Amino acid sequence: MTGTTPRIPQVQPWIGEEEKALVDGVIQDNWLTEGARCKEFAQRLLELIDAPYGVFAPNGTLALALALLAVEVPLGAEVIVPNSTFVGSASAVILAGARPVFVDIDPDTLQIDVDQAEKAVTASTAAIMPVHLMGVSADMDAVMSLAERRGLRVVEDAAQGIGVTYRDRHVGTFGDAGCFSFFADKTITTGEGGFVTCRSPQTYERLRLLRNQGRLESGSFIHAAVGFNFRITDVQAAIGIAQLGKLDQIISRKRANHAQYEETLRCNPHVWIYRAPVGSSHVPFRCALRCERAFELAEYLDSHGIDTRRFFYPLHQQPCFVDAFGFMGDAPFPHSIGAYEHGLLLPVYPTMPQEAVIRIASTINRFYE
Ligand SMILES: *Cc1c(COP(=O)(O)O)cnc(C)c1O
Repeated sequence: MTGTTPRIPQVQPWIGEEEKALVDGVIQDNWLTEGARCKEFAQRLLELIDAPYGVFAPNGTLALALALLAVEVPLGAEVIVPNSTFVGSASAVILAGARPVFVDIDPDTLQIDVDQAEKAVTASTAAIMPVHLMGVSADMDAVMSLAERRGLRVVEDAAQGIGVTYRDRHVGTFGDAGCFSFFADKTITTGEGGFVTCRSPQTYERLRLLRNQGRLESGSFIHAAVGFNFRITDVQAAIGIAQLGKLDQIISRKRANHAQYEETLRCNPHVWIYRAPVGSSHVPFRCALRCERAFELAEYLDSHGIDTRRFFYPLHQQPCFVDAFGFMGDAPFPHSIGAYEHGLLLPVYPTMPQEAVIRIASTINRFYE
């Protein structure tokens, strides 16, 4: 690795003059907490997602916990969660006082295996949390059919799902609630931030009470219910509005980078690129590979100045959950283990030049020669 070639990071937010101008406006107005920008950002998100109601949360993890509380998952109830996802999907269940039950993923799509989910339903199951992973949708026909048959609530983890549709409907609008994240590596970012959408006015009211100290409007100090503080700031919302203004460009650049990987790796028999499942659109979160000798390839790329990321470590093996839930033992999760052992995530961020994609893909081809 020569010192002159810059390292390629695995992700980079696209922040610039548009964000700066809108943040300057917030500072000029001297109103920092939730105000006019939050209202505007929420309205524009609801238009994009095509959902009637939504509230902010400080991040995606707390958006999920807030949603689980608002749809009234009882204390101690079971919530079905895919075994391959970010730890926050499951820790949100614990924060909401319920218990995550892990089920394996479909090896071809990386999304929750709904047949396995059906087998995991017990008398204590209250909800299922499909996670729309890698910028595609879970099989929402199957999830909703299971939920209707077994009387389960559905809280969608759409943290990676901004702009993603299933049968032309935005993810996050199928279940009782949909949760989004605006962390720095998601499709649009506010640094930190989250959003919960819902269709029922009753859920919307509970969301508002829970996130604002048990009152519907700030300013009152009489609290009808017990709630918390899940507010964000107008500074974040200003950044979010600017990000939404470039969403189409963000999506098309990510797609172009993903297509360039497909092109340059097309003839490589050692790697396979995950594609969007039937019914789902694709707003690539990363370029997700299934490949031979994935760990070695990651090291090789690292030594050539290229940052990559591994797939999520299977939740049933996470030290934090093994101790609490004792799931170790007979390894009933072959597909989440396989996805972890053979998976590698390559950068597709919107400011990434096409030459960087070609450099990464060519380095991968050289590794297997
Ligand atoms: C990022 C992410 C979360 C958590 O969002 P934060 O804003 O980081 O708390 C939850 N689930 C998935 C699938 C994610 O990718």
